[in-house]
Amino acid sequence: MFVMLFSKTGKKKYLINDEPKEIKPYLEKKIYENFSLTKEEIKEIVVRPAGMNINEWLATHTLTLFNSINQIYGAITEFCTATTCPSMTAGTVIYSWYGRKGKISAPQYIDLVMTHIQKHVEDESCLPSKYGSKFPASFGTSVKKFIKLLLHVLGHLYYSHIEDVSELQLLPYLNTVFIHLMYFDNKFSLLEAKDTVPLDDLAQAMNLNLEPKQS
Ligand SMILES: [Zn+2]
Repeated sequence: MFVMLFSKTGKKKYLINDEPKEIKPYLEKKIYENFSLTKEEIKEIVVRPAGMNINEWLATHTLTLFNSINQIYGAITEFCTATTCPSMTAGTVIYSWYGRKGKISAPQYIDLVMTHIQKHVEDESCLPSKYGSKFPASFGTSVKKFIKLLLHVLGHLYYSHIEDVSELQLLPYLNTVFIHLMYFDNKFSLLEAKDTVPLDDLAQAMNLNLEPKQS
């Protein structure tokens, strides 16, 4: 679906000991310690109740995360344009959309993410809405892909729009959604170690105590 490219040219940089360092505004305590539910409560939320079908459970959380991230991005969309964000970045990481030649702006990329997930969740053969319906064999793979794409959006929000999110009083919501996604991944091993790299330091600062991933 996409490839991940690394660039040495970050947007915001300053020099310390001649070494370029990226400014990470989201790593301020007042930013990352601001969430609406406690970490323990969020951790509890992802625990699958006994007897609950695993696919139903994965679908529920994926949909919740999709709706929440769509909502947060929707609120800051006027600040994320092809001019302000000419490429889809999470810090120094640049994402390109598979099958699309040339540079893609962040709003274009995020639109592709949301449309792609929306299309799949509305498709009965991918996500059956009726109780007891059979999920396709590829469902687990789809969930992994969706969560990875949603994490790209979160990465972009934290690195490029944290002030916009903060001004709109959506910081507790964003942090809660991030913690939710990280605990969900941690419980069901949805992401690879390289996927979480741009926000690993945030998870660490928040003290999420995630199980280490095998890379
Ligand atoms: Zn942007």
